[in-house]
Amino acid sequence: MREPLPREYAPNTDALLLNGKALAQQIRESLKERVAQLQTRGITPCLAVMLVGDDPASHTYVRTKARACESVGIRSLVRHYPATVSQQELEAQIDAWNADPEVHGVLIQHPVPAPLDESALLRRLDPRKDVDGITPRSLGALLTGEEAFGACTPLGIITLLDAYGIPIEGKHAVVVGRSVILGKPMALMLLNRNATVTICHSRTRPLEHYTRQADILVAALGKPEYITGEMIKPGAVVIDAGYNRVEGRTGDVGDVHFESAAKVASAITPVPGGVGPMTVAMLLQNTVLSAERWASDAS
Ligand code: NAP
Repeated sequence: MREPLPREYAPNTDALLLNGKALAQQIRESLKERVAQLQTRGITPCLAVMLVGDDPASHTYVRTKARACESVGIRSLVRHYPATVSQQELEAQIDAWNADPEVHGVLIQHPVPAPLDESALLRRLDPRKDVDGITPRSLGALLTGEEAFGACTPLGIITLLDAYGIPIEGKHAVVVGRSVILGKPMALMLLNRNATVTICHSRTRPLEHYTRQADILVAALGKPEYITGEMIKPGAVVIDAGYNRVEGRTGDVGDVHFESAAKVASAITPVPGGVGPMTVAMLLQNTVLSAERWASDAS
């Protein structure tokens, strides 16, 4: 049984803060125990990471993920390639990880710089090791109901809603953003949980017409503080998946204008400390689950 999550409210409002940081910490604690169990059987979960090129943000994300792995006892194996690497060499590495019984999860850090073909790498990855949940097979499984790892950010959002007992079934969920890693799988996961789902994107007109109808509003558009309080239905649950760097401001800024949104929302995720830590926790959870599956298949 987990500890109850903190029930804190955004300053001077009735909006419950959905504390992804606290939940992620609890998940990590439980993962440590599962890793220890695996280790008694001589198995150490291992996440292999492919990092191509010199994008500083990608390097930071990979460092964060590697540190998170180590914090729960998962071994992380980072292979860094120059942007001049050949497609064949990367594909050979994916093949080697697919075949390696000591590698339980593989993450291909996005973006792989052009002219390299990131989609071809994702297609080559064994779906049983796709702990990031973003290969075509894993995403297709969301449509067909087959078993696969869930894409980490939307899976983290569903896990956070569940942990706070926020009902999804029968609610109108509006997802702003339709990216392959976030908006689309988010919409499908909400649909699979029997929400009525609307997907908005950059050609949606007028956006506020749709956002104002949302019982659950997920902002995943990558535009700092774009969703303001007047675009939100009073009492809505607001999930801010965004993180944006804004010149002249320290730290990350979400896609939601927190102060005005918290005045009308019944619950809201902060940035930082909301969706971000949940994404990393889901990557760790999927990796441990993968190791457990390989262990039980082997026994
Ligand atoms: P993305 O690939 O750039 O996609 C953005 C989506 O938003 C697109 O579908 C785009 O529509 C839509 N959009 C852009 N401007 C819009 C507008 N004015 N009105 C309505 N829709 C609009 O971004 P992403 O990778 O999904 O990421 C979205 C946000 O989540 C970013 O802030 C990113 O940093 C963050 N993120 C967070 C995590 C996490 O762990 N917390 C993980 C991944 C991403 P079109 O399709 O029409 O272009």
